[in-house]
Amino acid sequence: MNAQRPAGKLAAVIGSPVAHSLSPAIHRAGFASLGVDWSYVAFDVPDGAAGDALAAMRTLGIAGLSVTMPHKSAVAGAVDILEPAARALNSVNTVSWDGDQLVGSSTDGAGLLASLAEAGIELDSCRVAIIGAGGAARSVIDAFGRAGAPDITVLNRTVDRAEQAATLAASASVGIVSDISRADIVINATSVGMGVDPDDAGADDLPCRADLLRADQVVVDLIYHPLQTAWLRAAAAIGARTVDGLGMLVHQAALQQERWLGRRPDIAPMRSAAEAELAARERNGGGR
Ligand code: NAP
Repeated sequence: MNAQRPAGKLAAVIGSPVAHSLSPAIHRAGFASLGVDWSYVAFDVPDGAAGDALAAMRTLGIAGLSVTMPHKSAVAGAVDILEPAARALNSVNTVSWDGDQLVGSSTDGAGLLASLAEAGIELDSCRVAIIGAGGAARSVIDAFGRAGAPDITVLNRTVDRAEQAATLAASASVGIVSDISRADIVINATSVGMGVDPDDAGADDLPCRADLLRADQVVVDLIYHPLQTAWLRAAAAIGARTVDGLGMLVHQAALQQERWLGRRPDIAPMRSAAEAELAARERNGGGR
């Protein structure tokens, strides 16, 4: 069968597990804001089968793919073209078409930067401390590096992973805990605090001690379940400005739609759709 740029209007997320993904709600709201009749579905694709999913994308003429765990690295090895961030990270969260070729992109880090810009947070000349060195942290370090952030400090429980992540940006280095206090923006990119009710949280549910934070800092948590983590609550209590993880999730999706359709959707209904989905899950006791 010949692979051609599809005329179709189906996009999908592949991952495993994928049943709790917010992507369908977010993307459908984005498509509606653009007035296009694209559909968006979730496919649970088992680990090891990412290549089959890309083959299906070609065969079935799927117009765009979102990629989540555990396939981001396998898809990076299976597309025809990699955008620079995806190549640096060896990680793809978006597949789009260029003629008959599949292009892999990574929009997570750019999504965080877009959400900070939307909140009016000045990124020029800021000192950034990033706690964590997993996939999310790596995408954020790469994005701040590309944006020209002059001072990026990486802290992680496992130091050699921090050292590896810090190689992603020329201005990044591995820091020590006190570096958190001298940063302008402090970002939790660990999973510490995820799924923890802030009312029940203990010290182990914070990515760093709250007394390291200052009132004049911007404190960002990439976690969006719960929307206000115990760490963000503690930061707000000392007067810091806080940013939750939903903005990054919504903006990385908007950047995906821009690659698929050539136009950026409206962020507000996408965020509302995600919040409504999270609230419905909380009511049903299902969490994320
Ligand atoms: P990951 O690759 O598994 O990395 C997990 C990170 O958390 C590592 O740095 C790990 O440290 C650290 N960590 C885990 N448990 C810890 C503990 N008890 N104490 C200290 N550090 C701990 O996960 P990821 O994909 O980067 O995701 C990280 C978080 O970001 C998750 O909560 C995820 O939901 C969130 N996220 C949000 C978005 C968004 O759009 N808002 C996008 C992606 C991810 P070690 O290296 O020492 O194990």
